Amino acid sequence: MLKMQNLSKVYRTELIETHALRDFHLEVKQGEFVAVTGPSGSGKTTFLTIAGLLESPNGGLYELDGQDVSRLGDDARSRLRNEKIGFIFQAFNLIPDLSVLDNIEVPLRYRGMKADERRRRATQALERVGLESRGRHLPGQLSGGQQQRVAIARALAGSPRFLLADEPTGNLDTHMARAVMELLEELHREGTTLIMVTHDPQQAARAQRHVQVIDGQVIDGATLQREVLA
Ligand code: ADP
Ligand code: MG
Repeated sequence: MLKMQNLSKVYRTELIETHALRDFHLEVKQGEFVAVTGPSGSGKTTFLTIAGLLESPNGGLYELDGQDVSRLGDDARSRLRNEKIGFIFQAFNLIPDLSVLDNIEVPLRYRGMKADERRRRATQALERVGLESRGRHLPGQLSGGQQQRVAIARALAGSPRFLLADEPTGNLDTHMARAVMELLEELHREGTTLIMVTHDPQQAARAQRHVQVIDGQVIDGATLQREVLA
């Protein structure tokens, strides 16, 4: 499970200081599907990059499966990320001159996995997303929806406990978006913990829980209700 308390993240440039997250609280249980929405610039991506151990918070507590990961060094963070987290980005982030299978194998290489085991896992992940016939293709030879499914296969190949998706259908047309959503929902039904940032209220409604982020803070349903009534 994932637990954040009083988390803060500040980005500093020479000119300005941006408080991307402040007093951020969230708990996600094993196996949950949580949708995160909020206006542009509210801190959704910042939240995911910290949740996914790509960056550290400036303050507060972050626990992952009971371990305090708030202040891990870069190496420890990378190792844990590779072991526990699968990431899906809006822009797919595939490497253009690597084949589909080689792309899926990238995170497995970092684990020092042997070549035949890597290939076996990558092939299995590609079958899982229904693209077994595309392993030798380059990403650019696939449609956007197919590229996102390859990115999902890459995330899955390492059997992560947490799947984090940042606007996974943001670059897709309606038809492809639906296929990607169905795949993510299927993975959740199979037991994966899924946290998905989306701007689409219909997608958010399909999650078990819906969390809103405004100005770097979580606004839960009860809080919203109280503010409306006040
Ligand atoms: P969202 O994903 O909700 O659109 P972000 O988490 O990307 O929001 O951004 C939150 C705030 O932090 C924004 O004001 C953004 O400009 C700022 N920000 C995000 N990343 C950086 C960065 N690397 N350097 C400086 N400011 C950043
Ligand atoms: Mg964002």
